[in-house]
Amino acid sequence: MASDAQPQPSDTSGGDREALFDRLRSDLGDEQVALAHQIERLEDAEQSLGADEGFADTAQVTAEQGESRALASQLRDQLDDVEAAISRLAEGSYGRCVICDEHIADDRLEAMPATRYCITHASGS
Ligand SMILES: [Zn+2]
Repeated sequence: MASDAQPQPSDTSGGDREALFDRLRSDLGDEQVALAHQIERLEDAEQSLGADEGFADTAQVTAEQGESRALASQLRDQLDDVEAAISRLAEGSYGRCVICDEHIADDRLEAMPATRYCITHASGS
């Protein structure tokens, strides 16, 4: 909103955004790797829980499997968002709300690099 009222030379602000996107691209890459590792560990843990079924309390195993499955699917959703953000960065549509196509504020992108919604449409997701 305020940016419309403030005259800004377009060459420098464009360069700033590019620098920000470069930084976010590397943050997203790190997050992608970290999430993939977490999911892998959860899946390994789940498999070993299943293998121990013979002597462990079955109800407890089932509960633990449910818990790690819920966590794994949460992490997979995050990973999807991160990967989608990385491909939007690659194709040049990154930083715009998928609903209204408005620019997402830089500080919002810094706080949540994987977001695909502007502040107006964030609450609906
Ligand atoms: Zn929007």
